[in-house]
Amino acid sequence: MMRKLLSTTILLILAAPAAAQTADRLYLMDCGHNSAKDQSLWSPGVNVGKPIEQSNMCALIKHGAQWLLWDTGYQDAVADRPVDTPVGHATRARKLAAQLAELDLKPSDITFVALSHTHADHVGNVELFPTSTVLIQKAEVEWAFAEGKAAPFKKDHPMRLLEGDLDVFGDGSVILVSTPGHTPGHQSLLVHLGKFGWVVLTGDAAHFKDNWDNDRVPRINTSAEQTHASRARLAKVVADKQASLWINHDLPTFESLKHSPQFYD
Ligand SMILES: [Zn+2]
Repeated sequence: MMRKLLSTTILLILAAPAAAQTADRLYLMDCGHNSAKDQSLWSPGVNVGKPIEQSNMCALIKHGAQWLLWDTGYQDAVADRPVDTPVGHATRARKLAAQLAELDLKPSDITFVALSHTHADHVGNVELFPTSTVLIQKAEVEWAFAEGKAAPFKKDHPMRLLEGDLDVFGDGSVILVSTPGHTPGHQSLLVHLGKFGWVVLTGDAAHFKDNWDNDRVPRINTSAEQTHASRARLAKVVADKQASLWINHDLPTFESLKHSPQFYD
């Protein structure tokens, strides 16, 4: 009997996959709010003239002694002075700097600033982190810094230019997933946490749940074909990993989650 138990245990150990690596913590940050008058900007011909309230998420991930910030939201100045943009009225209830300070972090503590893409509602605070390495797709930089366009942030900012996916810490816990379509070098983020499990942060691969569910492509997207393909790719990741799906501008999702200084681990 004892012998049988022992051999069963050994077999179980051998059959178990290597322990999956995980990030330590994920803090979801409030990076702004957009009040839009016309939802059809994101769904041509559908919900025309219907207003929509949108969140703007950033996420801070702790991995050992290193920190990765996912997107930077609207510029902190929007907290003092809300702005009207081509897609709505932008406000910021809390500054990003204040949310970091609340965790006793300085911008220089942030090792990596990973950007989903270069639209203003995502890169507003990149220059708050002059020493952090920006992780961005090469295709995005070539597109956003093209001659004649207003640069989204300083071109000489420390940057690592990616061509496809990146396993940021080399242990499978934090992965940038190439999801072009909204812009030429758009990317999403996949994070593995010990207790919470896997989570996909879409960036703007889809803007809100209705667009994800119905696979609607915003007018502004640079490629509808890539948008559909990128969403199919993310849907497969979500299914394979049984991952939570956090759609950046989906306010009901944001409101259902814990916000920094609370965290997921
Ligand atoms: Zn956005």
